[in-house]
Amino acid sequence: MESVGQYTIYDPEQRMKIIRKNLEKELNQVSKQRQEDDNKISQHNSVGGGDSTMQYVEEMKEKAKALEREVENFTGEHFTPVYRSLFHQAEQYQLKLDEMDITGREDIRRQRKGILDMLNEVTEKLNKKTHADGKPCPDCELQKI
Ligand SMILES: [Zn+2]
Repeated sequence: MESVGQYTIYDPEQRMKIIRKNLEKELNQVSKQRQEDDNKISQHNSVGGGDSTMQYVEEMKEKAKALEREVENFTGEHFTPVYRSLFHQAEQYQLKLDEMDITGREDIRRQRKGILDMLNEVTEKLNKKTHADGKPCPDCELQKI
């Protein structure tokens, strides 16, 4: 059979070497491309000079606004789990804003101050709605705040 002769030329080991070599070349190209893309991304971020920080502040502002609306809708003078969760949320936002690194960002610092003021008003508003002395009455759902 003539075809058998052709098969003897075929060297699986040699073939594997060629395949591996090509595969390696492609992998190198892919990883090189990925590295270049990563560099572009990190360059883009540093050019923005902390756009992600501004984005974060904007997000916190939206959250604070949403909380303000919730507090406005809060009714009833008693201390309830809803009261506590609203108060706790405001505190958490304040903590997150306090933790921010705003070195060299005057614009961010001002934005943050605005949101912190807003959150202070939110908690004040919440406290005005509930018992003025800050102490739970027998009808309150929470006896410990
Ligand atoms: Zn009460």
